[in-house]
Amino acid sequence: LPVETPPPRPEGAPSAPRPVPGACFSRVRPRALRQPRLVALSEPALALWAREAEAALFFSGNALLPGAEPAAHCYCGHQFGQFAGQLGDGAAMYLGEVCTAAGERWELQLKGAGPTPFSRQADGRKVLRSSIREFLCSEAMFHLGIPTTRAGACVTSQSTVVRDAFYDGNPKYEKCTVVLRIASTFLRFGSFEIFKSTDEHTGRAGPSVGRNDIRVQMLDYVIGSFYPEIQAAHASDSVQRNAAFFREVTRRTARMVAEWQCVGFCHGVLNTDNMSIVGLTIDYGPFGFLDRYDPDHVCNASDNAGRYAYSKQPEVCKWNLQKLAEALEPELPRELGEAILAEEFDAEFHRHYLQKMRRKLGLVQAEQEEDAVLVAKLLETMHLTGADFTNTFYLLSSFPAGPESLGLTEFLAALTTQCASLEELRLAFRPQMDPRQLSMMLMLAQSNPQLFALIGTRANVTKELERVEQQSRLEQLSPAELLSRNRGHWANWLQAYRARLEQDKEGAGDPEAWQAERVRVMHANNPKYVLRNYIAQTAIEAAESGDFSEVRRVLKLLEAPYHRAEEAAEVSEAAEPEGAGGASGRRRSYSSKPPLWAAELCVT
Ligand code: AMP
Ligand code: MG
Ligand code: MG
Repeated sequence: LPVETPPPRPEGAPSAPRPVPGACFSRVRPRALRQPRLVALSEPALALWAREAEAALFFSGNALLPGAEPAAHCYCGHQFGQFAGQLGDGAAMYLGEVCTAAGERWELQLKGAGPTPFSRQADGRKVLRSSIREFLCSEAMFHLGIPTTRAGACVTSQSTVVRDAFYDGNPKYEKCTVVLRIASTFLRFGSFEIFKSTDEHTGRAGPSVGRNDIRVQMLDYVIGSFYPEIQAAHASDSVQRNAAFFREVTRRTARMVAEWQCVGFCHGVLNTDNMSIVGLTIDYGPFGFLDRYDPDHVCNASDNAGRYAYSKQPEVCKWNLQKLAEALEPELPRELGEAILAEEFDAEFHRHYLQKMRRKLGLVQAEQEEDAVLVAKLLETMHLTGADFTNTFYLLSSFPAGPESLGLTEFLAALTTQCASLEELRLAFRPQMDPRQLSMMLMLAQSNPQLFALIGTRANVTKELERVEQQSRLEQLSPAELLSRNRGHWANWLQAYRARLEQDKEGAGDPEAWQAERVRVMHANNPKYVLRNYIAQTAIEAAESGDFSEVRRVLKLLEAPYHRAEEAAEVSEAAEPEGAGGASGRRRSYSSKPPLWAAELCVT
């Protein structure tokens, strides 16, 4: 293979912000890194790549794959509700497409390979921690069955950049790291916002205002390439074609966010530039999976208003679709776009959400009217008792259906003692810590940034503080009382669930076949492993000290996130005990709720 080392970039060029009116892509060159070293490869993502020895060279950007034509994509976006003008792509480079024997086309991107004309004042680099998070989570989401961009490789180096450390505020040298991303396309809602005329709030305009010819070309390209059935069905009527396209993007987006809600995934930065035009989860930054269930959980430390809280994700995605519709005007007439959104989004979201939740609960027969209420009441019970999202659903898979079955006491004990964070804190320190001491500790956490960083975002801590103070004032609950109260909540919900399961069983012909099917469906829809922040954090810490084995182990674990009867013993013996131990010796099973040091890690 010819190995091409990119020429040095001309001095001064990279950091100058540059508008590129009338262009969707700008040619760029990856910048070489010192001593690139492979952190990990995803074999399933890179089925076509067998040359591990060369991976560091090609996937760092130090050498170009034959035929690659690196380019940076120009896009705008609405950030936190405001049009922000031209945003990127300042940190990722398109390399080209790989065509497979099966006729698929995959776009390859390097993220963190150096500055582009859109980098503004930033350096176009990414560091080890953010790259490991993106790499692991892309693959984790794929194996959970959630539409996502993929990650093929993660390559670090001896080149460094300065970033603010996220808890002590001091500049810190961190290793430049590159992720190879793979998707059918990385075009976003924001790709169509470059045509946006002056924004009423910010006065900003897109770089290609008035270039309707490019908008039409881009629309033709997107529909023709990624929605060929729609192109074929409406070849002679572009308004109908564009409407069908927008309808399909709306449905895909609604299903994607329904999937997120059902697995407790919080994206963290749902700006329109992070919304894929083909309905993929895109841009893994300060994302988080729910540990303790809290609908108001905010995973992005800079999202102080909680705009992108877990429970807000569906409505935010809908709002983003509204912005896409506006960007498609007049190719998509305004009233048509609004009508499609009103008709499709909520209906598709609720349909998909309930279908998935019914599977998670093992309801395999006909849907009943009260199913949505049963789900809502489960979440409410989880919230009241501070239950862990992933573990609760996983535990339910072992819930016996018939009144003849035993084990309800053990089951209740399992559900009530898994309470994460503050309840656990209280129980763990029993009897030394009374509610007032606990409040004081939280106060301290608020004023001490390092401790604060471990507990969560300001919004979460304040809320938690209020909750605990109020609870302690009103109820003066002892740990034992708290436990018994939680048991009461669970007993109520489990009674309703058990009755509903009986009904489901009656609807089936063969009770034994029903039971087997129910367990199979639940195991296929309730993951045992998700990429909890503490699991990522442990892998990052080991990698920062030069040991990539934990990243690779976590990747393997997340490639099979669901229960597999025949391998269960093997996994728990082989992977878990060695598990999230890592450099700091924090041994923990991967399916556990987070340890106290990581109750709700704060990510920026
Ligand atoms: P995000 O919030 O991650 O979607 O980032 C918003 C935009 O900031 C991206 O689209 C990039 O263009 C830009 N950006 C993020 N990180 C960097 C970086 N390290 N260097 C240059 N631009 C960046
Ligand atoms: Mg982004
Ligand atoms: Mg990002």
